Amino acid sequence: MFYEELSHPIFKLVSEESQKLGFETFVVGGFVRDLFLKRDSKDLDFVTVGSGIELASAVKNRIKGAHLNVFKNFGTAQIKTDDWEFEFVGARKESYDRNSRKPKVEDGTFEDDIHRRDFTINTLAISLNKANYGELIDTFEGISDLNNGIIRTPLEPKVTFSDDPLRMMRAVRFATQLNFKIEETTLAALKSEATRLSIISQERITDELQKIIKSKKPSIGFSILFDTKLLHEFFPEMVRLQGVEIREGKGHKDNFYHTLQVLDQACSRTNDLWVRWAAILHDIAKPPTKRFLKGEGWTFHGHEDKGSRMIKPIFTRLKLPLGEPMRRVRNLVKLHLRPIALTKDHITDSAVRRLIFDAGEDLEDLLILCKSDITTKNKKKEERFQANLVNVEENIAAVEERDRIRNWQPPIDGAEIMKLFGIGPSREIGQIKTALKDAILDGVITNNYNDAHKFVIEKGKQLGLQQQ
Ligand code: ATP
Ligand code: MG
Repeated sequence: MFYEELSHPIFKLVSEESQKLGFETFVVGGFVRDLFLKRDSKDLDFVTVGSGIELASAVKNRIKGAHLNVFKNFGTAQIKTDDWEFEFVGARKESYDRNSRKPKVEDGTFEDDIHRRDFTINTLAISLNKANYGELIDTFEGISDLNNGIIRTPLEPKVTFSDDPLRMMRAVRFATQLNFKIEETTLAALKSEATRLSIISQERITDELQKIIKSKKPSIGFSILFDTKLLHEFFPEMVRLQGVEIREGKGHKDNFYHTLQVLDQACSRTNDLWVRWAAILHDIAKPPTKRFLKGEGWTFHGHEDKGSRMIKPIFTRLKLPLGEPMRRVRNLVKLHLRPIALTKDHITDSAVRRLIFDAGEDLEDLLILCKSDITTKNKKKEERFQANLVNVEENIAAVEERDRIRNWQPPIDGAEIMKLFGIGPSREIGQIKTALKDAILDGVITNNYNDAHKFVIEKGKQLGLQQQ
């Protein structure tokens, strides 16, 4: 039936080797789903009623240059060729214990194997057996759910989620990636079983979360995570962004939904995962810095600094990488108001030079974040804000062209200053270094060695130092 779809030579090979071994074998899961969705997929899962490892070894022997990995403990084997990954597993039956997502596993029939799968759209299988080669086996009306864009568990959803709570994150992830709706009783079970997420390791939760963030419109996923209270299980800081308080007739925007809009807008501008994270986190310190000032209304003074200090604890808890990605996110959060501030007054070259210096490598990403941070519903205002940022961008380009501030270091460094005055590391040396940097950034002196040298000698004199 789907014979022509199975154009890759692997299918015939697997079919022949399976028959020789007297097994029954099927292509299952994500590959079959993606075949119908016309999504490109390079992972292929084969289920065999027999030994997955034996079948994989036999297949491997017929592919030149293929590499076989055997996972004895799991009874699975994997073949890697060029860009494909073929996974072989024996059909299994699973039974769960309440305190773990690891089931007791025993050999099972093809039907057992299909019944243990998470969503109807993931239960689809194609036979590779001689009698019905290429025939689609759709046990739970997966095709109908695919056509209608529905995520639904094949069995009772509460049991499905309680057995392996990671499936709840997977449900949200598929709903986001595919832009599908979660069927009503499945959604109700997400709400009732949300706290079961506590038995899942943070690494696995974060892995699914990253897939949501990498998708085209992550707000779909975050809205579901929030509504089902799954988000409350692992990201309380983000939950706290939600809500509007009104005092003396003055409100403020709902920072959760604002953040989701900023995130989607950032996603339409960049695929960079960490800029997307900066969008998620840019206002994260608004709740803890929120104050109501009489006559003035709501303020979130210093939320960019406090926010940047919240990044490390959040990254640590979510098991996100603490090196360069965290540094970038922290810098973007810290600086996210700076380009906007430039648009308010008339722009001085000095302020532009400081921004270029402080943002360094992150300048383009910062501008992406700032443009995405505009969420006013007033079309006129939106156009004006965007135009202001474009103006800032042009100013930056002009100053950059002239002064080459980016990745810049002052023409005289600390070691040279110490040598000039014949003293070691000290407060005075620090003061001279800072004064020199400021003088150049503020345009007091030009960025060249001679002017810097003169400035340093003068500054040293003021501090009572003697030139050597
Ligand atoms: P993708 O590869 O895009 O992440 P996928 O559906 O292929 O999606 P995999 O993790 O590769 O996801 O799993 C392959 C198949 O195994 C799934 O289609 C599903 O049938 C089954 N599966 C995976 N994880 C689970 C789970 N936690 N519970 C039940 N079945 C699962
Ligand atoms: Mg897969």
